[in-house]
Amino acid sequence: MKAVAVLPGRPNSVHLRDIPAPTLETQPHPHVSRIPEGRGVLVQSLRIGVDATDREINEALYGNAPPGGDYLVIGHESFGRVLAVGNKVTEVKLGDYVSCTVRRPGKSIHDLIGRNDVTGEETYYERGINLCHGYMTERFVDDAEYIVKVPHGLRHIGVLAEPASVCAKAIEQVYLAQSRLQVWNPRVAFVLGSGQIGLLATMMLRLRGLEVYTLATKPAPHLKAEIVTAYGSTYVCTEQTSMADLAKRVGRPDLMFEATGNAEVCFRAMEVLAINGALIWTSITGGSHDVSVDGARINLEWVLGNKLLVSSVNGNRRHFELGIQALSHGELTYPGVTQRILTHPIQGLDNYKHMMALLEEKKALKVFVNIAD
Ligand code: BGC
Ligand code: ZN
Repeated sequence: MKAVAVLPGRPNSVHLRDIPAPTLETQPHPHVSRIPEGRGVLVQSLRIGVDATDREINEALYGNAPPGGDYLVIGHESFGRVLAVGNKVTEVKLGDYVSCTVRRPGKSIHDLIGRNDVTGEETYYERGINLCHGYMTERFVDDAEYIVKVPHGLRHIGVLAEPASVCAKAIEQVYLAQSRLQVWNPRVAFVLGSGQIGLLATMMLRLRGLEVYTLATKPAPHLKAEIVTAYGSTYVCTEQTSMADLAKRVGRPDLMFEATGNAEVCFRAMEVLAINGALIWTSITGGSHDVSVDGARINLEWVLGNKLLVSSVNGNRRHFELGIQALSHGELTYPGVTQRILTHPIQGLDNYKHMMALLEEKKALKVFVNIAD
């Protein structure tokens, strides 16, 4: 069957290759964890999304092949339909729509208790990213433990399950962390960035009733600003109104969700956070980028204001479930809005070159491949 893969370590090596089709008996990553007897789920890929991580893997900034091979099948944002289940699987059945989590457990205590999203090990095993093949192929198999059901009514946006899990986890983490204050009722939130993560975070924070401002560089009108507005948030162009000016106008944000991929913004965000506020970092900034800030001032304000930085990556199956719940709630509250994120469909794996080229384009909000109907 067809698969889109890279040769890790070699820039621009993305290519189409033929790999053996898995069956229920296949062990997709025996070097990490084995599917227990009867617990396999075989899935037909319907739509697989790509993001900046796939671009940076193709730039050879990170990513490794599974041991014993030289290639890595990419794709970590999965949506598919169940083709077959092992005799010990009760959670999903033939024909169900599903997504599959990304990270597989290592050996730290957190991995052992199902929290591989906060593994204590340096090496992380992630399908489509590091040491495990991904989903950019026609079929895949995995342990039912990592397969998450997507309701039928959400199938048009099911490919957003993985990015939604990342947002849902980050937001849950910040509320858990802020319980340190005993009372925390955030009112104003700034979401920095209007890519898929920024937009889904905007939606989730609006669903929690916050007054949300979504900041990005490009002046409106454009689709991202329309989506932000449709979620009941305010789009702010940082070329017209800086983060600091916005904070002067609407008050310092109690919660900030950084998702620009720009290291400078990550640190500038620290200059405006409210007393007792929390800043979430989710950007994965490949390469290197020096940033200069007034460290003394930030430190003083942060210490005197008991401010908190929460970094968050990945999501385990519970976060996928939370993300899917938020997508459902969002669909009922803002009908038809989330699907507008799905801007750039690619027809078939054969068009992988077009898919990678679109990842370079700023206006391509979401690139995904339609593999089957
Ligand atoms: C993925 C996460 C993953 C992270 C680090 C992101 O693009 O969405 O699931 O943990 O990259 O590799
Ligand atoms: Zn991703």
